[in-house]
Amino acid sequence: MPVIGTPWHSGPGDAFFQPHSRSSRLKANELLPGDLAFQADEHFRALAADVAPANHLEKILVKQVARHAAALDVAHASEVTILETGGLRATLVDPRVVPADNAQRIGAMTSPALLPLGAYQARHERGLYGAVRQLKHLQEAQPTVAIPVLFATEKECVEYLRSWQQRQPWTCLECGSTARCFLTGRDFFECACGKQSSIRFSTIYAGSHMPLQVWFGVICHVMCDRSICGSELANKLKVDRTTTIKQMMAKVGDALASPQADQRLAGVNQLLLSSLHKALIQQTNS
Ligand SMILES: [Zn+2]
Repeated sequence: MPVIGTPWHSGPGDAFFQPHSRSSRLKANELLPGDLAFQADEHFRALAADVAPANHLEKILVKQVARHAAALDVAHASEVTILETGGLRATLVDPRVVPADNAQRIGAMTSPALLPLGAYQARHERGLYGAVRQLKHLQEAQPTVAIPVLFATEKECVEYLRSWQQRQPWTCLECGSTARCFLTGRDFFECACGKQSSIRFSTIYAGSHMPLQVWFGVICHVMCDRSICGSELANKLKVDRTTTIKQMMAKVGDALASPQADQRLAGVNQLLLSSLHKALIQQTNS
């Protein structure tokens, strides 16, 4: 299984994900102990047996819950170690000044490592509750939830992808520069050395001539409705070639199952999640 933070290659036309980028460093930090992924898998198996996710979207949310639960397990184990180590520091305190019991407690509780651990724990607790809440809303509203259209026009899709690219770290494959400019009204950005790259660079849309609106539509349907077949979806998206839609569905499915889903789909999966979440809250309040 590929590990978050390592280079990946998602198919012809795509460039290697830059291994030294800011986002890959953050993702590597996120992993902390090596067995976090293993623990998340264990949680996922147990949760999936309980919850029985009905589609990709629910599966993604169950995966998020599992990942946060695994992080909280790790945080708990770290806390025990930190408190023990802090307690050991207490042996340096003069027992004539502070009684041994108190010194041990004070040493443990004042350990400087507890502060970042607390922040890590709080972040994953928020993430866990957020994912459980979204999953609950989604399961309650499942029969009535409409599959959203994220963008009304191709131009809006292009704008979205362009602004997503602008937020990504980037290194020119020709000259190594990290500065680039986005050409107004064009789907390219350009390095000072003249090298041009498509705004589809490093995503599953790279090398495809299919409009982004169709790609985003495929993502929404694959995530929300697992039972939809290629010809049905081709009809809905008004695309003649069913084979192409089937290939796109397979590519989206692969990307969704990979740890780099956010990168490969340019965050469209997360956009759909928050859009559904908003729709569900509105539905509950009305
Ligand atoms: Zn360059």
